[in-house]
Amino acid sequence: MRRISANYIISPNCKSIRNGVLEFDDNGTLLQIIDPKGKELAHVEWYNGIIVPGFINAHCHLELSHLKGVIPPRQGMTGFLKGIFANSKQEFNKQALIDADAAMFHEGIVAVGDISNNDSSLPVKQKSKIYYHTFFEALGLNTEIAAATSLRIQELINKANKLNLPASAAPHAFYSMSEDLWEALKPLFKSQVSSFHHLESIDEKLFIEEQKGGLFELMTNIRPNKKLTTPQLSMAALLNKYLIDTSKVLLIHNGALTDFESDIYNTLVNKLYFVLCPLSNQYIGNPLPNITTLKKINRPICIGTDSLSSNTQLSICEEMKVLLLNNPQLTFQEVLQWATLNGAQALSVDHKLGSFEIGKQPGAVLISHFDFEQTTLTQKSFARRLM
Ligand SMILES: [Zn+2]
Repeated sequence: MRRISANYIISPNCKSIRNGVLEFDDNGTLLQIIDPKGKELAHVEWYNGIIVPGFINAHCHLELSHLKGVIPPRQGMTGFLKGIFANSKQEFNKQALIDADAAMFHEGIVAVGDISNNDSSLPVKQKSKIYYHTFFEALGLNTEIAAATSLRIQELINKANKLNLPASAAPHAFYSMSEDLWEALKPLFKSQVSSFHHLESIDEKLFIEEQKGGLFELMTNIRPNKKLTTPQLSMAALLNKYLIDTSKVLLIHNGALTDFESDIYNTLVNKLYFVLCPLSNQYIGNPLPNITTLKKINRPICIGTDSLSSNTQLSICEEMKVLLLNNPQLTFQEVLQWATLNGAQALSVDHKLGSFEIGKQPGAVLISHFDFEQTTLTQKSFARRLM
């Protein structure tokens, strides 16, 4: 049994408790949430700051951890993708993945929605104390290998499942996939959670709406003398056509999302989770998501770190800081829900993670240097795992 306490216990779904005490059993299951109401309790570890449930990182690419600091910042989406292509043959470094996993653990991340293009990260995930859902990512404009790509994704999913790691298929982005590939993948999405890079940059919006811009030129030049094979559909029509049978869809980034007509998404809208990775957007030079637009959609918002190729750290606390700093209308409580319970729902692990509720094993994270007067993070705030 372990009792921990701090100035405040803060969790989605419940009122903040001043000097509240959390009592866990040896397996990390929450047994009691105690409001001491001024009374002293025995055997309590006391910390200065606030204690919140473990964070959910709804979007990461663990396998790109070895690209930390390799691609220079603020080159725009097209420049960033050129950097990724140029470094795709860089020697894989398993230690970088082990270090990134350990850093996330110590920062208080308890679950990750992780994009993978191959099986290289599976041994690290198998040993990790973090829960991983792997999204095996499909991309490619060559229609001749669409069926083979879909088959390869299914084999990767089977391989992960054999290691007891949950996994599903994820289409990469609008601009990087042929319609044949979408067709080949469609059966893999049935009743599964999927993830999709959605309106990350202005260039992506230009690509879809006007067939022009840097990204359009980059993708056209990848296969010279060949017709661009991306779907001739709007974003809404594309997602409705191919992702309608999923159980949930995580839409990642949304920086160039300026309006969203829920009506045209029909029933698909009820499956959408909007994942924000603001530090990655800033690193690449993409716009930050428009929170007013997103909140109008009235679907859960989650937080991700993206990968170390477009971020200097994998820290949900740092992502929360930048969201709060750039959106003064947001409250800490609201952003905490994005960072915990909403992400747990997106990955279907909210029965045990995401909030302090009796019987859950949510982990516990101490946030130091909290602004108690304004109930928000300060620039000095940092997180570390207690449980
Ligand atoms: Zn990503």
